[in-house]
Amino acid sequence: MPRVLKKSQRFNFVYHKYKGICHLCDKPVPRDKADRDHIVPRAYFKHIGVNRPGWRINTALAHKYCNFARGIRSVNDYRISIGLEPKMLSEIELRFNFLGTDDNWKVKVYHHQLAIVDQLHEIENDNTS
Ligand SMILES: [Zn+2]
Repeated sequence: MPRVLKKSQRFNFVYHKYKGICHLCDKPVPRDKADRDHIVPRAYFKHIGVNRPGWRINTALAHKYCNFARGIRSVNDYRISIGLEPKMLSEIELRFNFLGTDDNWKVKVYHHQLAIVDQLHEIENDNTS
């Protein structure tokens, strides 16, 4: 397998790996309604200051709608919110301790984003003064 795949090839890989089933709601996903969903959100890697791992282990197949509705919650937080049983944690959730029961990191990410917005405002103000 080549090291770098095109977007459509990455999509096909994930679609086949998950046999066309959404990993969030367990229902079949038509190709035109499917997305690659990050199992551990990219924002979390930023938060813990770790380079995110390759897409092969961190992307799963999901409905666009499920992906959007999940946001940065854990897979199991989303499943519980739509009335499904939680499932076994994946290797990547365990490896990076993304267990979804602690909402603290989201607050930290939010404050981090606010800090960036503040910095941008300061830069803009410096430029205009
Ligand atoms: Zn779904």
